[in-house]
Amino acid sequence: MSFQLNPLPYAYDALEPFIDTQTMQIHHDKHHAAYITNLNLALEKHPELGSKTLEELLSDLNAVPEDIRTAVRNHGGGTWNHDLFWQVMTPQAGGEPQGGLAKSIDAAFGNFANFKTEFEKTAMSRFGSGWAWLVKKGSGLAVVSTANQDNPISDGMIPLLTLDVWEHAYYLKYQNRRAEYVGNWWNVVNWAEVSRRYLAK
Ligand code: MN
Repeated sequence: MSFQLNPLPYAYDALEPFIDTQTMQIHHDKHHAAYITNLNLALEKHPELGSKTLEELLSDLNAVPEDIRTAVRNHGGGTWNHDLFWQVMTPQAGGEPQGGLAKSIDAAFGNFANFKTEFEKTAMSRFGSGWAWLVKKGSGLAVVSTANQDNPISDGMIPLLTLDVWEHAYYLKYQNRRAEYVGNWWNVVNWAEVSRRYLAK
């Protein structure tokens, strides 16, 4: 099985003015595409893995043959992480989650404002390249960050929401102002999709 680049679920300019069109084009068509190409190249060396899903590969990296383990970790992570990232954003979004997800956020963080503060702090303190995540961890929710293209699935957690804090995700518009990017990003968070994932797993 080889992995494909899915089209964005909205137009390249749909997340303006918070995420600019050129960043979306390069991020999706070049960066995301390259992870998928390199993942497929690695997997070609091991046709016996052909029936595995990406979640299965990432959830047990030690079971991936050693000669492609780093490639699957980096490019498989890059493939999966961006697929989630595109889906948890949408135009005319933002606001606050509802229902069970909102209750779980309150239980874990006290209230939604505290959750946002914790998430932003996590996104800002990730040194270099990586991601900030809201995950299901055990019976509750947690905010974590990962380096590079690592994924919380590899540590037994279930990702619900993620923010790319690689410079390629924001540098064209925001240059070194990661905090401004993170703050503006809340305006495009697709809480309906995050909620759907919360209820599904
Ligand atoms: Mn990226």
